[in-house]
Amino acid sequence: MLKLRQSRPEYFLFILTRQAELMMDGGGKKTRFFGKQVLPLIPKRTGASKGGFMIVFFAVNLNILFSLGRKYLWEKPCQCPRCHSMRLWGHGFVSAFFDGFAEALFLKRYRCTDCGAVLRCRPSGHFPRFQADEKTIRASISMKAGMNRWLRGISRNRQNHWFRGLLRHIAAYLGNTWENGLVAGYEALLIREIIPVTRCI
Ligand SMILES: [Zn+2]
Repeated sequence: MLKLRQSRPEYFLFILTRQAELMMDGGGKKTRFFGKQVLPLIPKRTGASKGGFMIVFFAVNLNILFSLGRKYLWEKPCQCPRCHSMRLWGHGFVSAFFDGFAEALFLKRYRCTDCGAVLRCRPSGHFPRFQADEKTIRASISMKAGMNRWLRGISRNRQNHWFRGLLRHIAAYLGNTWENGLVAGYEALLIREIIPVTRCI
């Protein structure tokens, strides 16, 4: 039997407030994704309300995560990004679906015993609430923008959802006069730490 070695996940970084994630889920604003950058361990602010949750991005091999399930050794954040307490305890798991896996994967949670914040671990390279990874979404946008075609193997509805989300975000954040193309717009939004393809602005 092939024995999978779990590499030590690199600590990537955070954060997303509960408010922002709810917005993304339902009809949100200013959704942000920090996976493109390695930010300081302690963010300047979190904005999470008491008892809310934040997302912590780690470099994770999804195949190993799938194989090990709850036994996967998630790295533990050094301290709470909100109150800087080092008293973080395991807080169970949440399940999440990712493309390529028929079953949900288990994502570790930690809870700060001092302020009550809950930290959700998530694989870097995946926007919150998206099953497809960022590279796939970017490839879809690039294909549609360059060749007016959709990627094979992914439903047209999903890709159209990303594409229309990008158009809305470019108009909202870069202006209706944006002339540098959709792919450049996608990149520009990421630089601004905005998820370019969410449903709502
Ligand atoms: Zn805390």
